[in-house]
Amino acid sequence: MKKHNFSAGPCILPQEVFLKASEAVMDFNGSGLSLLEISHRSKDFVEVMETARSLAIELLGLEGKGYKALFLQGGASMEFLMVAYNLLESKAGYLNTGTWSDKSIKEAKLFGEVLEVGSSKDENFKYIPKGYTIPEGLDYLHLTSNNTIFGTQIKKFPNTDAPLVCDMSSDIFSRQLDFSQFDLIYAGAQKNMGPAGTTLVVVKEEILGKVSRQIPSMLDYKVHISKDSMFNTPAVFPVYVSMLTLQWLKDLGGIAAIEEINEKKARLLYSEVDLSPVFDGYANKEDRSTMNATFNISDDKLKDTFDAMLKEAGINGLNGHRSVGGYRASMYNAMSLESVGVLVDVMSEMERKG
Ligand SMILES: *Cc1c(COP(=O)(O)O)cnc(C)c1O
Repeated sequence: MKKHNFSAGPCILPQEVFLKASEAVMDFNGSGLSLLEISHRSKDFVEVMETARSLAIELLGLEGKGYKALFLQGGASMEFLMVAYNLLESKAGYLNTGTWSDKSIKEAKLFGEVLEVGSSKDENFKYIPKGYTIPEGLDYLHLTSNNTIFGTQIKKFPNTDAPLVCDMSSDIFSRQLDFSQFDLIYAGAQKNMGPAGTTLVVVKEEILGKVSRQIPSMLDYKVHISKDSMFNTPAVFPVYVSMLTLQWLKDLGGIAAIEEINEKKARLLYSEVDLSPVFDGYANKEDRSTMNATFNISDDKLKDTFDAMLKEAGINGLNGHRSVGGYRASMYNAMSLESVGVLVDVMSEMERKG
């Protein structure tokens, strides 16, 4: 039986994507060859890369606005340093909203001065800081749109003259935003777009080329742009699967359509968390993520029973991150409303037992 997979990442993808991906591993486009054994310079693969890049730009509504999409390697973690390598000349601002922001700050400090414009560390990242001041003259301001681990999400992005850089690893393509307010967006594929192994970078070309340091080719966004994201052998399989997922999303009606479903899923789950005396939500209500819902069980003695019930219902990946504990339900784009319904049924059953 196929499980209801609430894992935070690598995560669920649409069933039809799994199917098409497995077909391509055996026989790619009826070529008699596996996707895994053809040249990345072949016409068929170049088309995959170009389709994936243009779908990303199209779905984000960034056509004709000076942006380029790249599929790089090294995970979102590589972007922590690439962003600073390419953009940080003297000082940058960072909003610290969790483990991932913390890690991006650590890397940026190797390249210049980092100003933490705000932080929610004081309350173990339960909330999104607001009303912070953004100093003048920053090379860029870095934000993490969704905090995968703590279950918080930025709902309103700050106004600033500085280029805006955003780590959207765990909520890209999940909700409508004016994406042109960002100058650089990056996202590891394995949360909401594809398998592990590639990272989407969408960058406004005009912000590049302004730092005085020399940048190694592999870490230089301009090099990757000039080679159409094929400077070296790209991660062919993750790029292909990402392309399939983006195609699936477009056929569904794009971000507007998926946002509606994502909001329904989140409403369903959070209303159970709020109503039930057995569960307590972790993140502040106004900042809660539609992608990763974090909650605790009020009485630890009920945990074993609840865990057994989850298992019985075929629910996988609900354990919270080790730095928060409790439970975390990740409801990425490919998660169906029905699966969330199964989880909510188990939670209300627990309530009757508790
Ligand atoms: C998972 C995650 C990362 C790290 O991604 P890697 O691809 O493993 O380097 C960074 N930022 C956020 C918000 C994440 O959820």
